[in-house]
Amino acid sequence: MTNAFLRLADNGHTGVRFIYRAGHHGLPSHWRYLMLATQLAGTGLQAQAIVQAPTPPAGVTARTRVDNAAINAVIGALTGAVWATIRDSQRLKGAEQGLVGGVLTSVGRQTAASPFNGSGFLGREVSAVGVSLITSAGQRSTTFTFPVGPVSLEYGEHEYDWRLNVTDFLLTIGMTFYPSTRLDVGKSLSSGVPVFRIRRTDFGKSGDVDLTAAQLAGTVLLSRNAFDPLTGKADVIYHENVHVLQEDYFEEAITLPTERAVIRPLPFGRRFLKHLDLGVLGPVLGGLISRLIPYRSRPWEREAYGLTANLKY
Ligand SMILES: [Zn+2]
Repeated sequence: MTNAFLRLADNGHTGVRFIYRAGHHGLPSHWRYLMLATQLAGTGLQAQAIVQAPTPPAGVTARTRVDNAAINAVIGALTGAVWATIRDSQRLKGAEQGLVGGVLTSVGRQTAASPFNGSGFLGREVSAVGVSLITSAGQRSTTFTFPVGPVSLEYGEHEYDWRLNVTDFLLTIGMTFYPSTRLDVGKSLSSGVPVFRIRRTDFGKSGDVDLTAAQLAGTVLLSRNAFDPLTGKADVIYHENVHVLQEDYFEEAITLPTERAVIRPLPFGRRFLKHLDLGVLGPVLGGLISRLIPYRSRPWEREAYGLTANLKY
């Protein structure tokens, strides 16, 4: 009687790997191999047997979490100080407000990287409070901006308002009606951003890394290889969730205000900016910076991988 069991595990893109965990006590090891060989032959699959316990994913250490909060606190403080300076306000106060905001962006990213339903949405809104504190540094009061897909809801000085990112919106509409893409409503609600499934196996390679998913202008794209062939899960989405929040910070704190400064003096500029943002500079600048840095050295990739080290994708 054998109490050995086979455990199926994802083996990236090379196929299925059986991991064999021996539960025999006192059986000579060649017997285990023989039994295993019989079992494997019976499956009719090309399989590789490993007589060892499966190695669990590395896990996100407390050190990673603290370091992440510290780095984002520094980024928040610096950005807050710059915003306070631009607004001719107290730099130190701006840095303090930015520091608190930076810690909140870290809390948001760590939440969005966690594998539970709705983590991206929740993390995005927590991060949005942080980004609002950072970008309001030097203002009399904080304007809170909460992104929901390509729309942002604003609350400041007891008034509600809304804004639409034109680039994000057009991309979302285009992808919704593009024949080989499909909006995944469940995943979109979970991530707080439109998530599309694309009918292609991957997005090519960057260095030695297979790109199975992508994040672009307020959307997330999942190729077929993003999904585990056995479990159907697409844990890479938690990695992309982190990129969504990074983009929120980058656009709200840097590129959208820059665009507004350029558009405002133009004819109809003020009218356009009442409820709209162009949203072109962020993706263009992001794309250009990406070309300058190898994939594995990009700080935003290191953050996304570091915060999802507990996941296999
Ligand atoms: Zn990435």
